[in-house]
Amino acid sequence: MDRGRKAIELEERFGTRNYAPLPVVLTRGKGVFVWDARGKRYFDMLSAYSALNQGHNHPAIVAALKRQLDRLTLGSRAFHNDRLGPFLEKLCTLTGMERALPMNSGAEAVETAIKALRLWGYRRKGIPEGQAEIVVAAGNFHGRTTTLVGFSSDPGSREGFGPATPGFKTVPYGDAAALAAALGPNTCGVLLEPIQGEAGVAIPQPGWLKAVGEHCRKAKVPLCLDEVQTGLGRTGRMFCWEHEGVKPDLMTLGKALSGGLYPVSAVVGKDAILGLFTPGTHGSTFGGNPLACAVASAALDVLVDEALPERAAELGVYFLERLGGLRHPRIKEVRGLGLMCAVEFREPIAKEFCKHLMARGVLAKDTHQTTVRFAPPLVITKVQLETAFEAIRDALRDL
Ligand SMILES: *Cc1c(COP(=O)(O)O)cnc(C)c1O
Repeated sequence: MDRGRKAIELEERFGTRNYAPLPVVLTRGKGVFVWDARGKRYFDMLSAYSALNQGHNHPAIVAALKRQLDRLTLGSRAFHNDRLGPFLEKLCTLTGMERALPMNSGAEAVETAIKALRLWGYRRKGIPEGQAEIVVAAGNFHGRTTTLVGFSSDPGSREGFGPATPGFKTVPYGDAAALAAALGPNTCGVLLEPIQGEAGVAIPQPGWLKAVGEHCRKAKVPLCLDEVQTGLGRTGRMFCWEHEGVKPDLMTLGKALSGGLYPVSAVVGKDAILGLFTPGTHGSTFGGNPLACAVASAALDVLVDEALPERAAELGVYFLERLGGLRHPRIKEVRGLGLMCAVEFREPIAKEFCKHLMARGVLAKDTHQTTVRFAPPLVITKVQLETAFEAIRDALRDL
């Protein structure tokens, strides 16, 4: 029995069944490519849900990790470490924000933002204790903690894990008027994804985010944008909100913040909100550790030094045009922004399509049975993108 088959068997025997991976066993990655246990090469068109914007094993990030490994990996926030301050400065400069709070997973960053918004609601807005409300959007994906799945509209994420944490009000996504109507005296924040990635790359109408920003400003309610997936170059700007110039009061980052080497997330934002945390009100054993800071600093440098947002903008236009030119009776829509693209089918054939893609050397992931997302590492070249596109076109013929 080969190594790959054995690995899958062990996973099925000893693991839990909360994923349904394609039958491919990855053993190596470099840039836009991954290799399976048999040595077959694939284009990675998922990029670990955009955690690999800088590509697999980027040499500068790997080197930064190795250097730090030989020095200090963890000290805890009970003590200072020499990497945290410089990393926070870099992150605040890049985001144009006043303060940053480092965590580990994206879900933790969103949980931290929720705590910050509630704290602001009680301490600054004067909302009666226990009454704070956050307005969220239908179709959201913010992570897998009990609080976050409690206000998910996806039954598969939510059902069986109640009771849901109270204090969330759901409005339709992309509807600024409905959002405005939901803002009340107990609203301590609005939490949104500028584009909903997990929902299948749902892109609201132009002007929606601008209108949301204006409603929040008028109602004096902080706006928190979850840019864990859309941020750090993916949509053709460093942050997705830049497309409409709506700078949020808080923003969550994760995924590509470490270039895929290590879990690093953060909340960045205004001092008026994040400045409210005092010693003992929030924390994380691993958050802000020197290894994470060294890796994330290098990952941010790569985004800037290699102009990856600009590359995503330019190649995104090209790729979307190529995908848009595909003629197939079962395709319903092709959409995208930057290198965050999706093909939606009229029928639930997304998984079947992914298997054909895999056979042709392209790894991609289906979402909600009808949609396949294409989000390659942003370091992809135009020639590589064209090769991947041709494989996608051919796999479509296999359907
Ligand atoms: C992936 C994701 C998260 C959760 O990140 P984890 O690291 O998996 O906890 C949160 N928000 C958005 C928008 C995401 O895409």
